[in-house]
Amino acid sequence: MEYVSPEGLRLDGRRPMEMRQIRAEIGAVSRADGSAIFEMGNTKVVAAVYGPREVQNRSQQMSDQALIRCEYSMANFSTGDRKRKPKGDRRSTEISMVIRQTMEACIMTHLMPRSQIDIYVQVLQADGGTRSACINAATLALSDAGIPMCDLVTSCSAGYLNSTPLLDLNYVEDSAGGPDVTVGILPKLDKVTLLQMDSKLPIDILENVMQLATEGCKAVANYIREILLENTKQLEYRRGV
Ligand code: UDP
Repeated sequence: MEYVSPEGLRLDGRRPMEMRQIRAEIGAVSRADGSAIFEMGNTKVVAAVYGPREVQNRSQQMSDQALIRCEYSMANFSTGDRKRKPKGDRRSTEISMVIRQTMEACIMTHLMPRSQIDIYVQVLQADGGTRSACINAATLALSDAGIPMCDLVTSCSAGYLNSTPLLDLNYVEDSAGGPDVTVGILPKLDKVTLLQMDSKLPIDILENVMQLATEGCKAVANYIREILLENTKQLEYRRGV
């Protein structure tokens, strides 16, 4: 199947290096300490953060750092008639662990010993790249909760189809079976904190695809900074500062 037309357009009309439209909203779950919705095209996720709070299971309490827990799930209605797995499947367990490890890279856990931070991420609408969208939503929700972080974490994926590196794959492109790289970065510290890849890629192409995904992460970081700034301005306005 042709995923890039002779004119250089993808099935959804994007250019190879073009990301889907992103949109974010802070404070979607009023009961949570911090929350956010993040959309990448038709992929839409919500993140809710609780904590720092008392550790529920005392045997997991750590005297020198906070315990970070993360739960990823897909809403029953998120996938339409595509294959859907129940909560607690292996994929969700793996993605929960990946997101937790990625977020741990930015949370200053040593400042909150003997406490617990819970990050819940749920996919409302799935169209490829849900783990990246969840990481971006979690970053915003953690910021909204006022959790101390050394940097933002942002994520984006890129793939390689029809001999062309493609940024931010949607479901159709993702399920084409080509290589798919998900990258997470700490933009200010200029560090990669997540790199996951499906199937094999020659090393020189991997570099190109990774570079493209990193550019996507930077674009997400710029957007997230704008949203946080806007949110801060609104809070100041409401407080009359
Ligand atoms: N997907 C689905 N049902 C599932 C798992 C995945 O419909 O049980 C779709 C969904 O659109 C998802 C895509 O397949 O975004 C790719 O899933 P993958 O496991 O590669 O993770 P993601 O790209 O979402 O991080």
